[in-house]
Amino acid sequence: MHFEHENLPQRVCFGSGKAAAMLAGEVARLGTSRVMVIASPAEAALSEKITGDLPVVHRHDEVAMHVPVAAAERARAAAARHEADVVVSIGGGSATGLAKAIALTSGLPIVAVPTTYAGSEATTVWGLTEGSRKTTGVDARVLPRAVIYDAELTLSLPVPMSVASGLNALAHCVDAMWGPRADPIDRALAQEGIRALHTGLPQVVSDPAGLPGREHALYAAYLSALAFSSAGSGLHHKICHVLGGAYDLPHAQTHAIVLPYVLAFNAPSAPEAERRIATALDAPSAIAGLQELRGRLQAPKALRDHGFGESDIDDAVNAILPVVPPNNPRPVTADDLRRVLHAAWQGADPETMTSDTESR
Ligand code: NAD
Repeated sequence: MHFEHENLPQRVCFGSGKAAAMLAGEVARLGTSRVMVIASPAEAALSEKITGDLPVVHRHDEVAMHVPVAAAERARAAAARHEADVVVSIGGGSATGLAKAIALTSGLPIVAVPTTYAGSEATTVWGLTEGSRKTTGVDARVLPRAVIYDAELTLSLPVPMSVASGLNALAHCVDAMWGPRADPIDRALAQEGIRALHTGLPQVVSDPAGLPGREHALYAAYLSALAFSSAGSGLHHKICHVLGGAYDLPHAQTHAIVLPYVLAFNAPSAPEAERRIATALDAPSAIAGLQELRGRLQAPKALRDHGFGESDIDDAVNAILPVVPPNNPRPVTADDLRRVLHAAWQGADPETMTSDTESR
């Protein structure tokens, strides 16, 4: 074995029903006293419930997916105007993303309180969008200093969104098996993340008001983000990044739909990853396990249901091909990408792609 692995400096606090106390503790630990709270209008009530005891100088609710540059500028100006010394983000990846945009230029510390399973809170990756162009980058300043995980805050996340978001976390884990910098630690974290999602997500579906499933999913979301942040974007994330930025597709649903096709494409050339994923899913093969789980969760199936047209496929292939990671387990041609995207557009059975793959 020969590898280098970097652990990111971040405190993680986990406790159902304990967000308010844990948040107050982390703000005090940072020595900060002027809190800017970021939460969308939909998360306002939840946010007020857990920030009542904090020295809040400003509440900012202009939260939008993929962080439009103009919204980032307004949030940065508000932070400066109110002389905030810490940003508390409460919500999904979009709220965390806006806090990261502020930290990127100001260096302000972030305490993140995630309410979905997107995992942005545990990565150094930031993203901004101008028109249809999404730019991402890596910067240590955007990593939240502390993360507060309270599964009670996720009880209101509707089941279909919980499923899509949970499969977004699963996609982080699967792609971390073969991402450009994937190492054995990433693979171990990812395997445990997949196991916890396999346990938790069906419980979220069968008992959305229960905490055990939500806790497993949140714990897995953290592991998935650690693994993904360290391993870097593999083929799956490169595909979804292009689709999300250029076609304005919903983030979590896009990941949920594309994942089985990338797995079916790569698995025959990545036997160790295939075995780890199958083991974590307690299934005879990785793809069989994923499809069985997706069936139980009634996961989103086809990109055509979310605004991606068949006529978009060729342009998308041209945008993805130059960014395919050179060390993907198998070489990727334009024709391969066309098959993956066509199958995902249609919601075809990924097993048919595996047999196509094997016969080629
Ligand atoms: P999101 O933050 O937009 O939330 C999706 C929807 O769920 C919103 O309508 C929101 O109001 C609602 N919601 C959130 N929490 C809720 C709760 N507890 N109860 C009820 N409703 C709730 O979507 P997301 O999938 O969490 O995040 C997607 C964004 O995050 C994208 O912009 C993506 O690029 C980014 N992201 C970044 C990274 C990174 O490492 N930088 C990683 C993952 C995702």
